[in-house]
Amino acid sequence: MAHDGQAQAPNVYDAEPIPASAMAEIERLLSSGDLFRYTAPEGSPVALLEGEFAELMGARYALAVASCSAALFLSLKALDLPRGAKVLIPAFTFAAVPSAVVHAECEPVLVEVGENYRVDMDDFAAKLLGAGAVLISHMRGHTSDMDAILALCDAAGVPVVEDAAHSLGTTWHGRKIGTIGKIGCFSFQSYKLVNAGEGGMLITDDPELAARCVIMSGAYEHNWKKHPGLQNSYMLWQNKLPLYNMRMQNLSAAVIRPQLPEVAGRVAKGRAGHDRVAERLNQSAYLAVPPPLAPEERAPDSIQFNLTGDWSDADARRFQAEAKRRGITVQIFGLSEDNARAFWNWQFLGETPDLPKTRAMLMRAGDVRLPTRLTDDELDFIAAAIFDAAAAVKG
Ligand SMILES: *Cc1c(COP(=O)(O)O)cnc(C)c1O
Repeated sequence: MAHDGQAQAPNVYDAEPIPASAMAEIERLLSSGDLFRYTAPEGSPVALLEGEFAELMGARYALAVASCSAALFLSLKALDLPRGAKVLIPAFTFAAVPSAVVHAECEPVLVEVGENYRVDMDDFAAKLLGAGAVLISHMRGHTSDMDAILALCDAAGVPVVEDAAHSLGTTWHGRKIGTIGKIGCFSFQSYKLVNAGEGGMLITDDPELAARCVIMSGAYEHNWKKHPGLQNSYMLWQNKLPLYNMRMQNLSAAVIRPQLPEVAGRVAKGRAGHDRVAERLNQSAYLAVPPPLAPEERAPDSIQFNLTGDWSDADARRFQAEAKRRGITVQIFGLSEDNARAFWNWQFLGETPDLPKTRAMLMRAGDVRLPTRLTDDELDFIAAAIFDAAAAVKG
């Protein structure tokens, strides 16, 4: 199939647009100057967002914070792990995840990830002994085997935190991702399904964990009274915990709230768009999109695929150049310099053992954003560019 090239190439970097209904609320906040979540006696935009998000997820408690990274950090602090505790994380994730573990004064233990982008359960089981916590990063929205992970962790008495930054709307056996572990953490950074520029949320059903997170997020003095829940828990922790001040401000909540009713539609569109491109890529002899595990219903806004068979680094780079010539930039995680998703660049961890499975995957896994607003024609353009680029190198 012939293309006009760049002229038609869709822009996959723009974020989700902000619903017009946010504007009136933003104007109201700007003209009153009421930006701090704890100024109003009740019903601040952040508090309303927390209530709406908890209801959307079916969780008892929700706490809005500055970022998903802040949510991950607070989760680990709330678990009250001893300094230096081992925290298992998948070796395929974003650098902010091991960073949150380090920030919480714990030691990240990287677990191998297979070519389907999911935690390698043999390596997980081998490394679980002695762990203080497990932080499962559902990287790019891919869900690892949560049945196996929870069974092992429950048996060992190890708490599980879910990094669901990119998994809003994904389900596992029909259960919402982020409600399976003790705490679930979400991101509203611009490249996630809900776009506030920055922002995060944590959810839990555990009143003690909720109270500890609320106080540490910066609910100083008696501001915790503005959070619904068990006040006894808060009384217990008043003045006993550090205040890290990772609160969300009202403007962010005003941007997020009108997007929540759009989540279900974005999820359905994202899944359909992803599956449309995946079907085309899977027709190539040189490409494969790994299927989800059976219990998973995905909510993707990007696609990952593997270059299959015998690809050299040089071939993979030529494939990237051929795709670029057709207007589409394909990230291959391990091939770009200083990539934040390649574990060997996390030098702040010091010496870490090599992880050959994860490394092999990162060197041949392609990544393209598929924002849920793309039309079928735009999706087909992207699929054709990737398909044809692989054929141009290997055909
Ligand atoms: C985006 C992302 C994060 C970080 O979220 P922030 O809100 O930017 O801190 C963490 N984990 C995963 C899997 C992500 O996709």
